[in-house]
Amino acid sequence: MKKALTLCVALLFTCILFTGSAPPTVQAAKTTFVTIGTGGITGVYYPTGGAIAKIVNKKRKEYGIRCTVESTAGSVFNVNSVMSGDLEFGVVQHDRQYQAVEGLAEWKDKGPQKDLRAVFSIHYEAVTLVASVVSGIKTIKDLRGKRVNIGNPGSGQRQNSIDALTAAGIDYEKDLKAESVKASEAPGLLQDGRIDAFFYTVGHPSGAFKEATAGATKVRFVPLPDIANKLVVKYPNNYLKVSVPVKKLYPGAVNDEDVIDTFGVKASFVTSVKVPDKVVYAITKEVFENFESFKKLHPCYQDLTKENMLEGLSAPIHPGAMKYYKEVGLK
Ligand code: GLU
Repeated sequence: MKKALTLCVALLFTCILFTGSAPPTVQAAKTTFVTIGTGGITGVYYPTGGAIAKIVNKKRKEYGIRCTVESTAGSVFNVNSVMSGDLEFGVVQHDRQYQAVEGLAEWKDKGPQKDLRAVFSIHYEAVTLVASVVSGIKTIKDLRGKRVNIGNPGSGQRQNSIDALTAAGIDYEKDLKAESVKASEAPGLLQDGRIDAFFYTVGHPSGAFKEATAGATKVRFVPLPDIANKLVVKYPNNYLKVSVPVKKLYPGAVNDEDVIDTFGVKASFVTSVKVPDKVVYAITKEVFENFESFKKLHPCYQDLTKENMLEGLSAPIHPGAMKYYKEVGLK
């Protein structure tokens, strides 16, 4: 022991002699692990989580934050997992954020999710209906009696599909054969003729619709302009009108029109009040300070501005994010 101590002192002395300073103390590196809940791998949430994680992980040494991404069932699952503490962050449709905060839709029994906090909003998502040409479906009313994927439980799109069908006077439990598979499985089922159509609420372009329009089965995007007009009036906190440039993005589809009109939502990034301010501050700061490189990570982000990333948030903004917004004058 004494020998070891002597050796240590000698080492320290040598170090000071040669460098003029004491050796750096080795601090126990404390890493905070955070996970972002996203969606299916053919959607846009998954690459969005990846884009955020990529930017934050570059500063791992500075912040001690290690960000990972998880593919999940979607918005509803993400809200619930952030609330239970299984995930620190989630990408969530803004209509679902509103419903969770107010205790509506899937949260009717659980009540308002008081701990939910908004960080920022991201790209627009379109409630998109695609059908095989052979099914003869040209309008939403033609879905009667057909096999239609409305979305898996836990996804954001499930309630959007039900809202669209209800607005068209279609009862999804009685008037059609509703399937509840994950969005990543729907294009394959459409191509194989095992479903006639599917709904997916997603940013464009997305892998799911590239896959759906690239096979031997010819498919058509079904515009929903009248449904959009009704729903933006009925649910002004949930929906907005959006359009999808289908011809440009999906040349394999049979549509004659360049653009289809439908309704949609904004994707948003949420967390819990329990996640420490410094973690939320660091993630917000890194995304906003690297805004131009972030925007390049997905074609869906082309219309993003720092200002519109603070729109469409119904949960209170997390204090860590607010600290950054105040510092830079965004709030
Ligand atoms: N909007 C979908 C949902 O909330 C996910 C879309 C995506 O993964 O890009 O379930």
